[in-house]
Amino acid sequence: MPDTTIQGTNFDSAAELFRLSLSKLGKLKLAITPVNYALIYYYLSGNDLALNKQLDILINNIETWTDKEANQLFERYLCKNIRDKTESNKLREELLNTVADILGMLIDLAGKTAISNESLEKHMKNLASSQDPSEILHIASDIIAETRIFVDETKKFETSISASTCEIEALKHELDYVRKQATKDALTGLNNRRAFDQALLASINSQQLEPEPFCLLLLDIDLFKDINDTYGHLVGDKVLVGLSKVLMKNMRGSDYLCRYGGEEFAIIMTETLITGAFTVAEKLRKSIEKLRLKHVKTDQQIGQVTISIGVASYRNGETDVSIIDRCDKALYRAKSLGRNRTVIAD
Ligand code: GH3
Ligand code: MG
Ligand code: MG
Repeated sequence: MPDTTIQGTNFDSAAELFRLSLSKLGKLKLAITPVNYALIYYYLSGNDLALNKQLDILINNIETWTDKEANQLFERYLCKNIRDKTESNKLREELLNTVADILGMLIDLAGKTAISNESLEKHMKNLASSQDPSEILHIASDIIAETRIFVDETKKFETSISASTCEIEALKHELDYVRKQATKDALTGLNNRRAFDQALLASINSQQLEPEPFCLLLLDIDLFKDINDTYGHLVGDKVLVGLSKVLMKNMRGSDYLCRYGGEEFAIIMTETLITGAFTVAEKLRKSIEKLRLKHVKTDQQIGQVTISIGVASYRNGETDVSIIDRCDKALYRAKSLGRNRTVIAD
């Protein structure tokens, strides 16, 4: 017996039987031919137990379901019904109901899809003029095939849409990553010079809307060349990374820290007066001075590393070049005064 039997007229709608037949054909991987459709349709309606017994044998051994076998069963069980006038009328009515439901479904879909209204009209015209149940079966199977194509196409479309969505997402992430990378220093992970230039300009521009005191700090590692010369460039790199971490740890949320170049760093401190900036600069200088760096692999002491700092408070109306120049001069003075110190710009 079929697993889903719909007794004769007991099924709620012809469309339900249509859907079940279609799904059964799909599950059994049978071609949608009028004969196969009609056999499955009758199998599910459960009207002819003798037919169902024969079909059970074929279904349980699906490779024996050939066109020849199917045609023989169709001839033996269904054409007999079709030749019978009352049966024939009943069948025609059932089929017309089914097809009408399918057409209704397709008309609904046609509004939203590419199924052409001409093709639906063609089917309707053919149905209206058709008296012969087997012809209706042919029309029904054409519609089913079309529906199948449509369903397949929709699935393909949906799959390709979701594939493109995934691709777009991946590209977005990649773009975000590349964008971020463009503003980051590869060695230390800090903001790079490019990002600093933009941030400084943004701070200066925002002064026009709402003047707020802000300060610039330029930090430069003292005698860094000696570290490279003594321990090698790779150890020098590690020192740069280590110092970056110390600086980062001491930043407030609104501070903007970056690697300005080589062994130089810059910090923009928003909403900060020169006294506050000087205090922070000294705190940074002292925490670096206190560090006792050691070469991890060789356990070799690197010794004390110090930094010199120039601090400048933004003067109303000055340019980015001007504040950098003043700050750089203060840094130069810190170097010439003996290094490891903070000097406030004129
Ligand atoms: P000063 O106290 O006057 O600043 O002396 P200094 O030796 O630090 O300054 P100088 O400008 O003479 O040398 C800077 C050194 O920093 C030279 C350069 O090779 C090194 N340096 C710059 N960038 C990097 C880097 O990314 N990695 C390493 N290991 N060294 C770097
Ligand atoms: Mg330098
Ligand atoms: Mg230096």
